[in-house]
Amino acid sequence: MMRCPNCKSKDIGKIGANQFYCWGCFIELTLSNGRLSLHQVESDGTLSSLDDLFAEEERRVNSDF
Ligand SMILES: [Zn+2]
Repeated sequence: MMRCPNCKSKDIGKIGANQFYCWGCFIELTLSNGRLSLHQVESDGTLSSLDDLFAEEERRVNSDF
């Protein structure tokens, strides 16, 4: 089970092939090469990356879906 690296919520919805959305903190998660990229959706609809806030290890996904 994947957890949100940001809020540790398991309440994550799938919105695309490799894209997920956290309902706990409302960020978008993109899975690639076993790692998550985190993006916050701004009020104007643009995405800003949150990757810098997390260590490589925190973004790694160990389990599959
Ligand atoms: Zn979250």
